[in-house]
Amino acid sequence: MTLRLPWPSFTILACCLAVGLSGCRESEGPGPVGAGPLRVVATTSIIADAVRNVGGEYVAVTTLMPAGTDPHNYLPTSADTETFAGAHLVLSNGLHLEGKMASQLEGRTVPYQRAATVAAKLDHATQVLKVDGGAEDPHIWFDVKLWMTCVETVRDELTTSDPAHAVAYRVNATRYLAELAALDAEVRAKAAKLTVALGAKPVLITSHDAFVYFSKAYGLEVHGLQGVSTASATSSRDTEALVNLIGERGIKAIFTETSVPTRGLEKVLDDVKAKYPKLGAVKLVVGDDALYSDSLGVAGTPGVTYVGMVRHNIDTIVKYLQP
Ligand SMILES: [Zn+2]
Repeated sequence: MTLRLPWPSFTILACCLAVGLSGCRESEGPGPVGAGPLRVVATTSIIADAVRNVGGEYVAVTTLMPAGTDPHNYLPTSADTETFAGAHLVLSNGLHLEGKMASQLEGRTVPYQRAATVAAKLDHATQVLKVDGGAEDPHIWFDVKLWMTCVETVRDELTTSDPAHAVAYRVNATRYLAELAALDAEVRAKAAKLTVALGAKPVLITSHDAFVYFSKAYGLEVHGLQGVSTASATSSRDTEALVNLIGERGIKAIFTETSVPTRGLEKVLDDVKAKYPKLGAVKLVVGDDALYSDSLGVAGTPGVTYVGMVRHNIDTIVKYLQP
C-alpha cells in the first residue's frame, strides 16, 4: 500500500494545527530529498533495523516505538505527529500490527510524503497466515525467508524515494539478504537438531501468538497464552487449556517475551504447580533469556539487531527444551 499526499501544503496546514494559533513552524518538513540523508520513520525497531542495513549512510531512520514496546497497544503521541511530519518515507509493518495507529497510517491524520508497509509484497493467499476466524497474523518477521521479501520491499521503497542512491541500496540489500539466507539456514538446522534430540516436534509456549510463522517455517508446535494481538484479553479458559497441555505433555519450559508483561504466564505456572504437583519443575524463562517477539532489544543486549534477535530466540529455545 503506497499513499501520496499533496506536499508541502498539507505539512504546513497540519503544522499550524499542531502548534495552534501561536505561529506556524514551516521548518517541520523533511526538506527536499538529496539535501541530506533520506529521512525514514519506521514504526517498529525491527523495521528500523532493516532500513539501517539497506539504507546505510544515505538514510536517517527514526524508530517511533522504543525497544521493548508492544506494537499492538502502542498509542501514538503528539510528538509522533511531528516525527511523521519530518519524514520523506514512513514504513510500517501492516497486517494491523500497529493496531492503534490506523488513523495515522491509513487515515492520514498526519502528513508525510510517502508511506508503505513492509508486508506489501507478501501474497495474502499463500504467505500471510490467518488466525482467529480470518484475521491476518502480522508477525511475519519470524519466518526469515518472508522477512527477506520485506527487506526487498524496504530496498524498493528507499529506491523510489531516493533514486540517486539506487545502486547503494541494491548493493547493501544484496549483502544483507545473503546474511539473512544464512540465518534462515542456521535456524532451520538448529530446530531440526532439537527435533531429532527430542524425537518429536519441540513445543514452544509463549505469552502471545507471535511465533506461528516461526513454528511453521522451522517445524515447531506453538501455543500462546494470548492471541495474535496482546490487546485481546486472556480468559480463564485460555489459562486452563495451557495448564492442561503443560501438565499432560510434561513441558519443561515456557517462555516470556520482552515486550509483554510476564504475569499471565506466572499465573499459568502457579496453576500447573497446584494441579500437577508430581510434575518436575517447569521453568519460566524470563529476564535476559526472555524471547524477543514484537520488538528488538535495547542497546547492549543480543537482540539489538534483527539477526541477533532471531539467533537469541532459537538458541534460548534449544537451551531450555533440549533433553
Ligand atoms: Zn505480537
